[in-house]
Amino acid sequence: MPYSYSTTITSRPPTTTATGPRPARERGGWLRFSPVQPLFRARAAGRLAVLAYHGVTDPNSFGAQLDRLHRLATPVSLQAVEQAISEGRPLPPRSVLITFDDADRTVLTHALPALAARRIPAAAFVIAELIGTDLPFWWHEAQFLAAHGGQARSLRTHSSPEQLLARLKALPDPDRRRSLHELRVSAQRQAPRREQLRPEDLRTLAAAKIAIGNHTLGHPCLGRCDDSTVQTEITAAHLALTQWLGEPPAAFAYPDGGYDSRADATLRQLGYRLGFLSDHRLGPRLPAHPLRISRLQVDSTTSTRRFDTILSGLEPAVQRWRGRAQASAG
Ligand SMILES: [Zn+2]
Repeated sequence: MPYSYSTTITSRPPTTTATGPRPARERGGWLRFSPVQPLFRARAAGRLAVLAYHGVTDPNSFGAQLDRLHRLATPVSLQAVEQAISEGRPLPPRSVLITFDDADRTVLTHALPALAARRIPAAAFVIAELIGTDLPFWWHEAQFLAAHGGQARSLRTHSSPEQLLARLKALPDPDRRRSLHELRVSAQRQAPRREQLRPEDLRTLAAAKIAIGNHTLGHPCLGRCDDSTVQTEITAAHLALTQWLGEPPAAFAYPDGGYDSRADATLRQLGYRLGFLSDHRLGPRLPAHPLRISRLQVDSTTSTRRFDTILSGLEPAVQRWRGRAQASAG
């Protein structure tokens, strides 16, 4: 089957922590005391906040964030977002949907108990070819191999793990796969294994109101893939998930957060109703483009102080201003 690891041995997918706009560093917590924070918070009440986590590394801090949401926001499910769109009726004020990309085992071990205790629903987007394996995420593997003597022709010039990843993600996808293969055969050590979620874990999560969504087969940057690879990455993951869950997934999250119009066409054909970006923005309470829903990047270690400024949209706005200022200065 196309979603078995053996057919894609050279194709460890790209993303996770290094995806999309990075959450600002923790020093952004001071923004909470900015005079414009109340204005942003008032404006955010009329928007939809979809939070994009990866794993949960700090269960205590994550629990504090959930308590905050319980007090200040209206947690909604993936299904509620879908229903709002189909009925053309905006979600309630201060609606927040929690999502997890890449879905490592901490979604099961840490996120699920914390969410279930507070009856907060969520959605997890999984990388289909990793399910039931002990394979590392390809981006972790590449960094490990490069740090242990791994070499690849396309990666001669990088000087830091971040640059290595940026370089790999910028390559046409066949070159990324070839580079990973070269790293594997030249490194002195094999990257550590990592136990991933199993098919039965997906069913456990789904039964506990953590909806399972498609995050492609192997997590390539879709914009670097040819048409048929885009289609295969989505369709093969779709078939695998449908088999494991007993029903087709309704939602998709773009690997690395970037929209791709070819993916959009395939998603429509397969009946997907929701698609999520990683653009670090709030969105309308009735999403105008259901296959392009904005999300805010957060981390379980984020302090509640900074968490507030992300939820209000202030911290993302400051990040955009900074990015624009740097671009015009550069
Ligand atoms: Zn991802």
